[in-house]
Amino acid sequence: MTEPLIDPFQRAISYLRVSITDRCDFRCVYCMSENMTFLPKKELLTLEELDRMCSTFVSLGVEKLRITGGEPLVRKGIMTFFNAMTRHLESGDLKELTLTTNGSQLERFAGDLYAAGVRRVNISLDTLDETKFADITRWGRLPQVIRGIDAAQRAGLRVKINTVALKDFNEDELFTLVEWCKSRDMDLTFIEVMPMGDIGNEDRLDQYWKLSDMRARLAEEYTLTDLAERSGGPARYVRLDETGQKIGFITPLSHNFCESCNRVRLTCTGELFMCLGQEDMADLRAPLRNNPGDNAPLEAAIRDAIALKPKGHDFDYSRQDVSGRMSRHMSHTGG
Ligand code: SAM
Ligand code: SF4
Repeated sequence: MTEPLIDPFQRAISYLRVSITDRCDFRCVYCMSENMTFLPKKELLTLEELDRMCSTFVSLGVEKLRITGGEPLVRKGIMTFFNAMTRHLESGDLKELTLTTNGSQLERFAGDLYAAGVRRVNISLDTLDETKFADITRWGRLPQVIRGIDAAQRAGLRVKINTVALKDFNEDELFTLVEWCKSRDMDLTFIEVMPMGDIGNEDRLDQYWKLSDMRARLAEEYTLTDLAERSGGPARYVRLDETGQKIGFITPLSHNFCESCNRVRLTCTGELFMCLGQEDMADLRAPLRNNPGDNAPLEAAIRDAIALKPKGHDFDYSRQDVSGRMSRHMSHTGG
């Protein structure tokens, strides 16, 4: 038996998030600037390298793999990768293969994803207003995403909507979004905006809508019951008693969730970030590329990296200045 990945704080690492590309067909204002410079192709792990990398993590005890980006479904040949991961689901080593997507390409890929063994997808959507959607994503178009959601549900994928909570932008849609998700039998999770990436003129504190305030507003209309469910991540869930809906809150800034963290993040260039909120990372591309026929150096590099996983992050908005700010873009490490 291979030893599982346990970090210095006795947390077992069972969840790997992989940003498979830094590219995207949208330019969400809180995530990217309009004129992004993307990485040269040769920097990226090839699909075969991604397979080897993920398979190594699975052999070391990773049971959940989430594919993200950038927009994962704009990576050329992406289904080859998903189809390759199916073997780990079939063997039982991998318990879940899933992705986070902006939904723009789901009309094309939903059926294939289901066939590859994907059963749940997270789809990011911040507003149901077409004009506001075009404003916030710059390049996105709402009807295309709605068609993607339709296709996902038709294919049998369980959909969770992820909504970034943005002050003065979607505050007025709180109940509309909740009711819309209820009508389509989709879970809904709100995310607090995080200080990731230099995105130009946008001011983080202007965008910041505290989820505790949102929760209080929800409680004016619904009876909220806290759920014990934990994902090992920053999400906390409540049930709306009147509708039975589950609503999640991801509050990395106002709630400390690090003690139960079970995850690490791999970038499309093979850097392993042990914490979303820290700059520490380990290069896994060199041990992978330099040793084509031998996995031992890669395994050793992964174990060394996990041994450096920090206790927690340093994000903090409380002093009314964005401290703990990261220069890295969310599309680099994956959301
Ligand atoms: N393109 C895919 C998507 O949008 O779902 C996957 C990658 S995206 C970086 C993953 C998630 O990160 C999305 O739900 C997005 O809304 C969220 N995100 C991006 N920038 C963020 C920020 N600064 N603060 C909080 N969430 C952010
Ligand atoms: Fe693209 Fe997702 Fe970032 Fe929006 S949040 S720009 S869809 S990577």
